[in-house]
Amino acid sequence: MTFDDFKLDDSINEGLYSMGYKSPTPIQQQAIPLILENHDLIACAQTGTGKTAAYILPVLHKILQSDRKGLNTLIIAPTRELAVQIDQQIEGFSYFVNISSIAVYGGGDGVTWEIQKKALIQGADIIIATPGRLLAQLGSGTIKFDTLQHLILDEADRMLDMGFHDDIVRIISHLPKERQTLLFSATMPPKIRDLARRILREPKEVSIAISKPAEGINQQAYSVYDTQKEKLLESILENESYQSIIIFASTRENVKKLGQLLHRKGLSVKAFSSDLEQAEREKIMNEFKNKQLRILVGTDILSRGIDVEGVSLVVNYDSPPDPEDYVHRIGRTARAATQGTAITFINPKDQFKFARIERLIEKEIPKIPLPEGLGEGPEYNPSKFKDEGQKPNRKKFFKKRPGGKPSSHSNHQGNQRPRNNNPQ
Ligand code: AMP
Repeated sequence: MTFDDFKLDDSINEGLYSMGYKSPTPIQQQAIPLILENHDLIACAQTGTGKTAAYILPVLHKILQSDRKGLNTLIIAPTRELAVQIDQQIEGFSYFVNISSIAVYGGGDGVTWEIQKKALIQGADIIIATPGRLLAQLGSGTIKFDTLQHLILDEADRMLDMGFHDDIVRIISHLPKERQTLLFSATMPPKIRDLARRILREPKEVSIAISKPAEGINQQAYSVYDTQKEKLLESILENESYQSIIIFASTRENVKKLGQLLHRKGLSVKAFSSDLEQAEREKIMNEFKNKQLRILVGTDILSRGIDVEGVSLVVNYDSPPDPEDYVHRIGRTARAATQGTAITFINPKDQFKFARIERLIEKEIPKIPLPEGLGEGPEYNPSKFKDEGQKPNRKKFFKKRPGGKPSSHSNHQGNQRPRNNNPQ
């Protein structure tokens, strides 16, 4: 299946292309057609599965097809961080699509409150809000919901865990009854079912089962600076009980560098890369399977499908880019109900990504102190590092107004992005 199959507006397809999305993820394959057909939906899907685009894409398409008279879509999310992430994804698409959004979340000072209030008075196609702040703004009478067509609850289970049930019900009491409601949740406990029964109409259901790492894997992690990684790896490899080891690095350069470094240390190691001839790759793999070779270093091409028995250790020298990759990588050890160890090095830039991995596999992985002599590693505090590696939030509150006219109140120089303007 490709994105073309959904027959989305051309400008959305341009956005997909520019964001590098090549094919829809399973949740997108299942949810997008149902949303386009105007069904209410309960979707069980975790962060990392592509769930945000699964609702944003069809909603953007429907907004473009509508007569655009006012606020079209309300997205409610549990935290400021998630609201910002959703806003950034909409922003990514709205480079090409003439659609405006406003993020409304708590925190900040009186200035933030006023900026949000002004933005709400100006209006937008989409509001992304945390429940408490939205209710507070509702109290000031600035938001008109009469043109609302879509309500989306994202991470609904987390919102209920955080005690937002009554706030959500109060918000919904302000909304038109004739609307399409989409409820996304990572888990489906009875309280979510109850809420769904009250606010959805004949919903369709989709569910994405996530793969979880095998029980036999002893998962550990180190918070390290890049400059400490080589020494840490060497100290781990001194443990002779690790007889068969796969080391994952994120780039071919790192794979090559590590292969050479460990070879110089006299270790039995080979680098496995897509550059090698097929015959050479098979030879290395056979040596590794026969235990003539102790260490294999590679990129994610090693993480899928390669079934080698008795791998005792997997090292993620660089944190994997997404949760599914993590599960695939560490799944190279502890195969067929045996035991194995998986160790991940997390540099400050990767902390936020790693926290998402932990959320997806629903497990906190112990962070081990660095061995003596390596010095202090960075503090593990993903929320502190969350903005690293993400694109800057260029337009937080003020965006193009519906109809494409830049807001005259915009206080962000250069934030208004022209329609269909190719970024190169
Ligand atoms: P989410 O589950 O919505 O938090 O999405 C996880 C990440 O996957 C985000 O960084 C998205 O930009 C990215 N993503 C979503 N859909 C796709 C896709 N079809 N192809 C590639 N990346 C995607």
